[in-house]
Amino acid sequence: MDLAVSEVQLEGRRLFTGIVRDITERKRGEEQLKVIASELSGRNADLVRSNQELDAFAYIASHDLKEPLRGIHNYATFLVEDYSDILDDDGKDKLNTLTRLTQRLDSLLDSLLEFSRLGRVDFALAQNEMQEVVHEVIESMRITLDANNIDIRIPVELPRVRGDKVMLGEVYRNLITNAVKYNSSESKWIEIGFQPDTRPLKSGATPARPRQTVFYVRDNGLGIPEKHFDAIFRIFKRLHERDAYGGGTGVGLTIVKKVVERHGGEIWLESTPGQGTTFYFTLAEGD
Ligand code: ADP
Repeated sequence: MDLAVSEVQLEGRRLFTGIVRDITERKRGEEQLKVIASELSGRNADLVRSNQELDAFAYIASHDLKEPLRGIHNYATFLVEDYSDILDDDGKDKLNTLTRLTQRLDSLLDSLLEFSRLGRVDFALAQNEMQEVVHEVIESMRITLDANNIDIRIPVELPRVRGDKVMLGEVYRNLITNAVKYNSSESKWIEIGFQPDTRPLKSGATPARPRQTVFYVRDNGLGIPEKHFDAIFRIFKRLHERDAYGGGTGVGLTIVKKVVERHGGEIWLESTPGQGTTFYFTLAEGD
């Protein structure tokens, strides 16, 4: 029961009024909420644990698979080298294909190793000037950018954010690499910028979450059809032939997504095929 008492002065007399309320329902609701909250936190812990186990599994599996694969590759190479007198052209072709496939599998395993390593390392969160992070990445890619005649545009100096400098660099390295690779325009450009987060809060989200900034990397490249917007973030998923547009293992965007999400951010894109693509990601504002 809930009792509310208040005092009233009436013609010189003190009167008290009391309101008694039955709060059984409210109490029951609170109890239920407590049970749900504790179940949710248990499930969250389970999810974190199973994610860690998956990362560990991917790491061990890809690491251990590399050794027998090396053996297969070596034996296929020995056969081509030592038995070239006995093998006809068809046999040699098949062995060469076998060697190429082992190399492909080896690079896929390397990508899986790199991806699973991300889930296992601790991020060094600190205040970072995003302008500096991007500048360093661009300098390290200078040869590729010049060779492809890329015009890099940064309209406004990028702000400070809270994050792991090396990992944020990886996000930009992957997005810029893609913006260069998947672009056949005459004059290619990449715009790197940011804007305030104007997205409405999701229902149920606490308004007390740290303020977010939306960063973007925009290109005037091939573009991506909307039906592939989810698929491109999946590991090993490519939209083109294996060796088209400089090749790749299809791990870049999977890594970008994982890094952004481990920082508590989100990633999405807008694209018009034939005109270009913009990747957006959010990060907590710096102090
Ligand atoms: P990879 O580049 O190794 O294939 P990613 O995970 O980085 O792997 O990208 C997955 C696929 O998404 C690419 O194969 C490509 O088809 C598409 N893609 C990524 N970035 C762009 C872009 N900026 N413009 C057009 N297509 C893109």
